[in-house]
Amino acid sequence: MKDIFDTNVLCNKCNIKTNKAAILKDGFRLRYFECPKCTQRWYHPSDIKEYEEFKILKQRIFSVKLRMVGNSFSVTIPREIIEFEERFTQLEKEIDQIMRLSLDEPGKICLYFKKDLEEENGKER
Ligand SMILES: [Zn+2]
Repeated sequence: MKDIFDTNVLCNKCNIKTNKAAILKDGFRLRYFECPKCTQRWYHPSDIKEYEEFKILKQRIFSVKLRMVGNSFSVTIPREIIEFEERFTQLEKEIDQIMRLSLDEPGKICLYFKKDLEEENGKER
């Protein structure tokens, strides 16, 4: 199936060819067409859909249990998060079972699905 991004899009106001670009927002790569004249943007529909789903998931607070397993503790990660992450990482072709965990600040633990999180933060590409 051909993707919308394979085609050329004309700005309906200026009637000139738009440029393809992408921004990184909350770790999401959002592709868009931009008119070089009036700077109107049209985002890729599936990128926006995924991002909207993420925003809904982000607002949810999950209650999880901490269990002792040998000398460690385990927490259950809600299925919604894993399913979302799997789809997302599949798109990014970076499936990795090993996650990184760090103590961010007292009372806050960070769990990373992606390896290269630092270099992606806040960078436009
Ligand atoms: Zn325009």
